[in-house]
Amino acid sequence: MNLYSVKMRASKEGKHISGGERIVKEEDIKHVVNQLLNRPKEFDFINIKIDKLKKVGYFDKTLDIHTITFEDIKQANDFASQIISDITGIDTDTVKKYIDLVHTGASETGENMRGAMVVNTDGKRVELDKNRGVRTTNIDYEDRNNIIQALLEKGFTERTADALAIATKNLNSGCILAEYCISDDPDYVFGYVATGRKYIRIYPLKQKGNQKGGRIYFVKKETDTKKLYRYLEEKSFLIKGLGDIL
Ligand code: AMP
Repeated sequence: MNLYSVKMRASKEGKHISGGERIVKEEDIKHVVNQLLNRPKEFDFINIKIDKLKKVGYFDKTLDIHTITFEDIKQANDFASQIISDITGIDTDTVKKYIDLVHTGASETGENMRGAMVVNTDGKRVELDKNRGVRTTNIDYEDRNNIIQALLEKGFTERTADALAIATKNLNSGCILAEYCISDDPDYVFGYVATGRKYIRIYPLKQKGNQKGGRIYFVKKETDTKKLYRYLEEKSFLIKGLGDIL
């Protein structure tokens, strides 16, 4: 069976406004192109790219979904920093320094990075380009509609499905020990930390109204950065099912 990657990105007045990607069977290409085309309400530029994939790997399940609620952002981020520190051995002050950077704009110009910051267990930033970061792509669900339906029934959104897929690919890399994420959507204050088999949704991880957001991948010290980029940006995977929802 031939599988294709379909990627869409749209911009308005030079600013990125919408994006999405799918891995689909040949007979579903037209339908999915249409869906992605209708995603941005208006745009000046849209790019839709279709690639036949040579090889696709499979993950049996996503990470297990946990949800934890705090009274305020400080407590939520203290909790996030502690888990990351415990798993990476990086002291909490250093973890918090990088987390703060994501809340204030982690690129060199103080904007959001396009992809994730990469920090190793020595506490050093090792991504190849500090403005772009690394992007986790070529990941989707074997039966996307089914998974989204199951998540919607449990009160989650399509946004969760996409973030869960990214985190599942990341944590299966063998070198990412933990991921921290806050959205760049100013209205969306849930964030998550993924580690081991867990995708821990944390509320409230960022200040409402803040347009800054980003991801940090905490990696083992011996990680070959170029190899990690190849895995995250070039290898394609489909996820078969959902992990536990706890
Ligand atoms: P989002 O969860 O889509 O709101 O994205 C939040 C932030 O995570 C963005 O501002 C980027 O810095 C980063 N990001 C978005 N998509 C990816 C991706 N596919 N891989 C790595 N980082 C990403």
